[in-house]
Amino acid sequence: MNIQAAIEALQAADIDVDLNAASVKSKSRDFFWYSPVLKDRLDHVVADFVATPQTEAQVIDILRTCYAHDVPVTTRGTGTGNYGQAMPLAGGCVLHLHKMNAVKEIAPGRVVVEPGCLLKDLDAACIADSGQEVRMFSSTWATATIGGFIAGGSGGVGSVRWGALRDPGNIIRLRVVTMEEEPRVLDISGDDLHRVSHAYGTNGIITEIEIPLAPAYDWIGVFVAFDSFDEALQYSYDLASCDGILIKLATVFEAPIAKDYFQRIAPHVTQGDALVALMVAPHGMPGWETFTAGYAARPIYRSDKSDWRKDPGHVFEYGWNHTTLRALKVDPSITYLQIAYGTDDPVALARKMRDELSPECLQHIEVMRQNGRIAMAGLTLVKFQSEARLDEIIALHEANGAMNFNPHRYTLEEGGRQAVDARQLDFKREADPKGLLNPGKMISWDDPDYSFDQMYAWPGLQAKPAA
Ligand code: FAD
Repeated sequence: MNIQAAIEALQAADIDVDLNAASVKSKSRDFFWYSPVLKDRLDHVVADFVATPQTEAQVIDILRTCYAHDVPVTTRGTGTGNYGQAMPLAGGCVLHLHKMNAVKEIAPGRVVVEPGCLLKDLDAACIADSGQEVRMFSSTWATATIGGFIAGGSGGVGSVRWGALRDPGNIIRLRVVTMEEEPRVLDISGDDLHRVSHAYGTNGIITEIEIPLAPAYDWIGVFVAFDSFDEALQYSYDLASCDGILIKLATVFEAPIAKDYFQRIAPHVTQGDALVALMVAPHGMPGWETFTAGYAARPIYRSDKSDWRKDPGHVFEYGWNHTTLRALKVDPSITYLQIAYGTDDPVALARKMRDELSPECLQHIEVMRQNGRIAMAGLTLVKFQSEARLDEIIALHEANGAMNFNPHRYTLEEGGRQAVDARQLDFKREADPKGLLNPGKMISWDDPDYSFDQMYAWPGLQAKPAA
């Protein structure tokens, strides 16, 4: 690796290169610290420099130069990933894409956009152009990029209607630059999308994204309180199953999450209240009222008719991983799990795990759709005791048939299905022959026979400085 030669070549080519130690350090961090396990392993990791391209041609220049000088490249949107996806484990170059943020084309049902566009800016552009909106976004809508969501995220607000990002139809096309002596630009669609979406930038840099759009609504945020978690869970499942009522979010919080961690909601709930957060289309509200009257539900807030003294803000900023963030702010010993309760009987499985683990673990459930069926994802809050106990809790979920997407691991496989993804590996062999893109994040590249029986420790990880 010849960092100095790469920097000089990039500066000579008029690429914006940042060498300021404080800003390089800050661009070398994401939300890995959500996990005490990752915090222990990755806190010291730092890149050597940050390169900021303004165009795809500059991305190509940077990749060509880094390839020539064997410099690792870790791509960055805005660094809100919480699996350490954007942490430059081997140092080298952080490729910061925030200046490639143009919305290039909006047509009925689809948009073409550069990767550095913030989700909120993309939504605003589509609404202003033709009353359309992105189908789904991470709850980091205000701060995260569309490129980071596609390369590092999984689903979010809208997934209760549209499913996960990986589901067919939720991405139309990706344009990708390879990391070779002479980088190639490839347009990828269809089944090949699986090679590069949710690949943490390990096998290509996404420079253009085409995704579908839906009609935009002025969504109404709602909070509904329940005496019991079981009632809240069943209500949410039934509501998401009710095809005539258009919703964009259905999130369930076990008590006392709302009382203890949601400052602006706390005055309106009791310690025993379970809470459901919803986003309902305005024309769906009469149907929602009729539906809700059939349950022991207490609507406590709706954004279009609120008399709360303090505005709680966007309802979706209580859900997905914002729940963890809010809990962490009150109790820094909290961490979390990412669990899939599946589609067979997610209500029964989530209840079972709750009965076995509450209050050490508090259930936070996101209702999703999967191939026409209702699925549930658990972003369960955990009172952290030790790594060993965390592993036990995860093993207990797996023993009960709940799938674990371990957020306490920095590799694609361990944060995914704990198996080699042959399509992503094959594409890396083709698109990144020297293994310079986000090194250390794809186990199968380094050790195709890895057994997954313990946490993977990438041998190339920067050494911790002596204490
Ligand atoms: P980054 O963190 O900068 O990057 C993410 C990954 O993508 C990295 O591996 C990076 O190398 C790679 N990457 C970025 N851009 C490119 C590119 N152009 N080409 C190739 N690779 C690229 N995630 C969800 O899925 N749903 C949620 O609802 C959600 N809620 C969250 C809430 C909070 C409070 C936090 C902290 C995180 C949440 N996340 C969620 C995780 C994360 O915010 C999202 O995945 C987000 O969209 C990432 O965008 P980013 O711009 O921050 O990407």
